[in-house]
Amino acid sequence: MNRVTILGATGSIGQSTLDVLSLHPDNYQLYAVSANTQVDKMADICRRYHPKIAVMADLKSAALLKSLLNSDDIEVRGGTEALVEISSTDEVDIVMAAIVGSVGLMPTLSAVRNGKRVLLANKETLVMAGHLFMQEVANNKATLLPIDSEHNAMFQCLPNDYAFGSSSTGLIDRGITRILLTGSGGPFRQTALEEFDEITPQQAIAHPNWSMGPKISVDSATMMNKGLELIEACWLFDMDHQNIDIVLHPESIIHSMIAYNDGSVLAQMGNPDMRTPIAHALAWPERIHSGVEPLDLIQVSQLNFEKADENRFPCLRLARQAVQQGGTSMAILNAANEIAVQAFLQGQIAFTQIAQIIEQTLHQLPSQQTDSLDEILHDDQSARQYAHSYMAKIG
Ligand code: NAD
Ligand code: MG
Repeated sequence: MNRVTILGATGSIGQSTLDVLSLHPDNYQLYAVSANTQVDKMADICRRYHPKIAVMADLKSAALLKSLLNSDDIEVRGGTEALVEISSTDEVDIVMAAIVGSVGLMPTLSAVRNGKRVLLANKETLVMAGHLFMQEVANNKATLLPIDSEHNAMFQCLPNDYAFGSSSTGLIDRGITRILLTGSGGPFRQTALEEFDEITPQQAIAHPNWSMGPKISVDSATMMNKGLELIEACWLFDMDHQNIDIVLHPESIIHSMIAYNDGSVLAQMGNPDMRTPIAHALAWPERIHSGVEPLDLIQVSQLNFEKADENRFPCLRLARQAVQQGGTSMAILNAANEIAVQAFLQGQIAFTQIAQIIEQTLHQLPSQQTDSLDEILHDDQSARQYAHSYMAKIG
């Protein structure tokens, strides 16, 4: 029996994980779940899936949940310490890291430091602290499995013995020449550029192929999501960004590809449904049912590919700039993006100002080459402050 903690159980990835787990009650036991402040949703999850522990982000929400559940069967806790504990205790084998944003970093890192099997959905962790994180994976013999569909696809197309964080031979020496990172292009791939200023949050979160949380949906609309995924791929596969091509593929059937030196290009395909990478990572190296419909290629009928346009999607250029600068530039990019996306969702800024705020923050703040978590978090905070003050100036 594998005991599982789900960080961010009330979110889109959290729900899909609960769906897959419920298909395999003999193999997986839900140990703990966490959520921010969605008490009602968490109470439903507790009643339906019976975890041992439920953790809310703060004590007030925890008290509310406790009174809603009105039972001693489930231990209810609140705060960051509890979050870190359910990720690192000896009582858990698998941690699904599905909190959105930089708050996911600490619990995910503690799961890795305790040698867990870590199912990584929270891409912001790798973007902020990729070098440090991969070192910790290696040092603590954690088993890292990517949930982001693209990186999960890449992993599935790599040689069978590939392991993250091991000091085994680099991919280039194993005959891999390029990574082809695919992306749908989001809802505005063909929208007239003159209309970009008028884009509303509602339009931005309506993704054509994937159903996801609001932050990653806006990231997909600006294509910063692909930029974050580029950085994620650099760290996961120890690849230079110049060996990674971003390819638009509007159908979202191919989830990414690996090109080999003999001319072979391997792709992983499937319906766009996160239960596939989740089931893959839960059971790896075995395979289990995910509940996803089989792919009907006759019905799909066409797979199309296009070049990604950095003029339309400046966030792609900014992400490449950050990875090229290295150090804490990527944490600065990520922090400015989180602030800008939140402001856009709250109707405070225009869609096109998201990239403008990130560009300005990246330009103004000095980055440092460091693996110190404190220094990374310091630059993350400075970037948030700067982005706020810049927004106040232009707003
Ligand atoms: P979501 O918004 O649907 O869910 C986020 C979860 O994080 C919720 O459970 C929420 O309660 C929790 N959370 C938010 N703020 C918190 C805080 N301050 N403290 C503690 N918990 C907090 O997001 P999602 O779409 O499920 O995405 C989760 C992560 O997975 C993101 O990093 C995203 O980039 C990544 N991801 C998602 C998808 C997808 O299809 N949804 C695909 C690839 C990667
Ligand atoms: Mg993805």
